[in-house]
Amino acid sequence: MARGRRRPRPGGPRPHGDGLTHEVVFRRCGTCGQLNVVREDDFVCVFCEADLPVREA
Ligand SMILES: [Zn+2]
Repeated sequence: MARGRRRPRPGGPRPHGDGLTHEVVFRRCGTCGQLNVVREDDFVCVFCEADLPVREA
């Protein structure tokens, strides 16, 4: 039996090679329809500055 190989836990944090610990959240803007990458809980559309839905619909 092969030992020492760990399976990543589903739903757990994924290891990143770049040291980022933030989870990347995508939100589609309801105003302009562009897909935004939400960083650090800044739920504002970078394209039209409309508020993005904090919760996924
Ligand atoms: Zn927008």
